Amino acid sequence: MPMPTDPNKKEVLVIGAGITGLTAAYKLRNDFNVTLLEASDRIGGKLHSVSFRDKPVDVGPDSFLTRNASAVQLSSELDLSEHLVAPVSQGASLYSRKQLRKLPIDLALGIPTNLISVLSSQIVSPLSAVRSAADFFWPKRLPDFTALLDSADKKPPQPTFGKYPDPSIGQLLNQRLGRATVERLIAPLIAGINAGDINCLSFAATTPELARAVSKKRSVVLSLREYRKPTAVKSAGSPQTPRPTPFLGFDTSLSTLTEALRQNLVNAGVKIYLNTKAADIKMTPHGKRHWAASILQKNMPTINADFDALLLAVPSSETANLLEASLPDIAALCNKIPFSSVATLVTAWKADEVPPIYGTGFLVARKPKKLITGVTALSSKWAHLSHKNEVWLKISAGHYLDHRAISLGDEELTAGMIEDTKTVLGMTGNPIESFLCRWENAFPQYNTGHIERILQIDALTAAIPSLAIAGASYHGIGIPACISDACKAADKLKDLLN
Ligand SMILES: Cc1cc2nc3c(=O)[nH]c(=O)nc-3n(C[C@H](O)[C@H](O)[C@H](O)COP(=O)(O)OP(=O)(O)OC[C@H]3O[C@@H](n4cnc5c(N)ncnc54)[C@H](O)[C@@H]3O)c2cc1C
Repeated sequence: MPMPTDPNKKEVLVIGAGITGLTAAYKLRNDFNVTLLEASDRIGGKLHSVSFRDKPVDVGPDSFLTRNASAVQLSSELDLSEHLVAPVSQGASLYSRKQLRKLPIDLALGIPTNLISVLSSQIVSPLSAVRSAADFFWPKRLPDFTALLDSADKKPPQPTFGKYPDPSIGQLLNQRLGRATVERLIAPLIAGINAGDINCLSFAATTPELARAVSKKRSVVLSLREYRKPTAVKSAGSPQTPRPTPFLGFDTSLSTLTEALRQNLVNAGVKIYLNTKAADIKMTPHGKRHWAASILQKNMPTINADFDALLLAVPSSETANLLEASLPDIAALCNKIPFSSVATLVTAWKADEVPPIYGTGFLVARKPKKLITGVTALSSKWAHLSHKNEVWLKISAGHYLDHRAISLGDEELTAGMIEDTKTVLGMTGNPIESFLCRWENAFPQYNTGHIERILQIDALTAAIPSLAIAGASYHGIGIPACISDACKAADKLKDLLN
């Protein structure tokens, strides 16, 4: 039963109903009257499942990392733990040097921790694998990334203005491991996750944990080998607790999570408006409330409303648009964060026409300039999508500086993605059915300078108690990072209650 608005509670406007906005509204729902605006016709943002051959299939993300426990924790709060499932297949391949080759198992987010495995994987030539050993003898220690990363934890955040090193992944690793290993092995993994370019992505911003692990060390490979060593959790008298699975998804789709959040918000009296945008937002320092918004709902007259607090959970480019009038400094910084666009194509094939695919699928090295960047073998990755007579593949295309995922027409893009997949797998048939989804400006790029830019945004935002900004553009693009960011943003606004 929906609850009525409480006249004694402060009013919060949350803009954007992706995982960040939904989580923030969920965390605020008991302390404030919450209004949640979503520009599109559905909640979830990048978490989007569609009905494909009568099953719900995630066309955006389908799993999340468990190293940051926030998504597991939120699922447990929403009584969804029993629906969390691990992929049933493990391992993956990489299409490199015209063949699919198994990825070494001892990688730390794509960076090798054992050069013998790199050599035996044949992903790079023997000469390139040997070249990577230069890392062991490099005369200079690795930069100290901890000071830069620690500035983010300071309260209030401390902008550092070029004080600390912030090389790109390419700048840092090309010298030590050789360009071929970086381009063929590391780029498809690290840059693949971010749809980015290794020569632009900041090593510290993209992989903060690895940056901490290599800080001031002699060798990348040896320090990451140390970092990967399992830390056994033991409790008195009990055997070793097994390591939790690194990835989890839901036994139907990630919409399980967004739908549970939606239901919970509705029950708590949160007003959710779809097809609704805040057209104009102004800070009103002398008004009864801190923010005045003009709200535009499709085919409806504009509504003007005042709020005590504002939480922006939209991509940084949209944060810039919304804050331009009131807070141009924050808007200008947000405008500097670039984005890349991608496309996903979910396909069903006759099982007898597809060769066996190792593990959860494969990535494609950037060098042969293929349109596709990777393929997830959905029907072997997830038990709930397994099919006796069919193989389901989710094909991905597009990255920073490659705009074909957006510029090509539907037919050309679909045909190109299918053609590349057939070439890599050596198949001749065509899919029985396919579903194309484009993700324009979907991946914020954490290029060099990102941490400092975010520190500046954080410092400026910290000075305004009634404003919080969160989401994939700032402190991490993965689902758990967005959930953590939403919780932090909600906590900040709760300070208004004291
Ligand atoms: C294809 C793809 C695969 C991915 N795979 C993974 C993965 O496997 N694991 C993982 O952890 N992460 C993955 N990610 C990243 C992750 O899904 C996103 O970073 C995260 O979901 C972003 O959440 P968000 O709420 O910050 O932003 P969004 O999901 O972008 O939500 C923002 C919402 O704000 C709305 N909005 C925008 N402007 C306005 C406005 N003016 N007024 C009202 N509403 C507005 C938008 O419509 C949108 O619904 C993937 C992303 C993509 C695109």
